[in-house]
Amino acid sequence: MIIRSRPTRRQLLKTAMAGVAGMMLAAPRRVAAAQAPADAGTERLADNLFVIRMPGQANVLAQTGAGGVLLVDGGSMAASDALMKMVASLPGGGPVQTLINTHWHPEQTGSNEAIGRAGKTIIAHENTRLWLTTDVTWTWNGQRFKRLPKVAQPTKTFYTTGKLDSGVRYGYIPDAAHTDGDLYVLFPQENVLAVGDVMSGAGWPVVDYVTGGWIGGIVGGLQRLQTLVNEDTRIVPGRGPVLRLADLKAQSEMFGTIYDRLSQMLNRGRGPTEAVAAQPTKEFDARMGNGDEFVRRAFESLWAYVSPDA
Ligand SMILES: [Zn+2]
Repeated sequence: MIIRSRPTRRQLLKTAMAGVAGMMLAAPRRVAAAQAPADAGTERLADNLFVIRMPGQANVLAQTGAGGVLLVDGGSMAASDALMKMVASLPGGGPVQTLINTHWHPEQTGSNEAIGRAGKTIIAHENTRLWLTTDVTWTWNGQRFKRLPKVAQPTKTFYTTGKLDSGVRYGYIPDAAHTDGDLYVLFPQENVLAVGDVMSGAGWPVVDYVTGGWIGGIVGGLQRLQTLVNEDTRIVPGRGPVLRLADLKAQSEMFGTIYDRLSQMLNRGRGPTEAVAAQPTKEFDARMGNGDEFVRRAFESLWAYVSPDA
């Protein structure tokens, strides 16, 4: 019985989730529309704060200022040159002084090498740095990711929280929602929160259980983020349009429902193929897209989480 091997962590999560269940009762039943991708270009969130969207690329958040540009995520390597030009042409823009990696994925870390070679600061959670120093293979499709050269690796890592001189704060999201190195970046003055792929504004997320993510972590992470925002906070996800607290609550409720369904199937000894056949995302698919791939990964993530050696 695989779930007997590490039962306590799941029970702990269940207990933690029960405590915030009351908070979710009033949540609007709306989930950000997957069919409405934000247009490519730049969206200004404040005088000095911009979301940069390039075709096919993950969101980049740029803060300009006298001390140089702060970037949250750096796009893919193929887009790095174009991104740096866009950043330089922003009002108050210029060269990047500091880059924060929300996690290790290549869609976020493609500018690390250029920024590292320029001798600038790259901030990440320590787990993200560790993933970037090793080759990773996704077991479900065989996709391989080469480690980054030394010059491209984060230069400043942390475990819990950190703060920049500008007042910008960042912190670890320890639930392992997307990977085990996820972080948020909070701009208190502008009331903007960047969350990387812990929240999705464009369809079902990748459940990267090879580097620690799991469906229970998605639920836990979304609940944790609710403690950092208010009704007016603009939330910048890894992909898609800027989101709000209502979206966060709705996603939290949706993934909580799916997590419960998959856990019940796991407890009855079902497997990933049966989980997909049961269509546990059915009522959400119209807005989020076909859920089959997500359900398979999410179910496999339960296996990986409760029985890492399986
Ligand atoms: Zn990612």
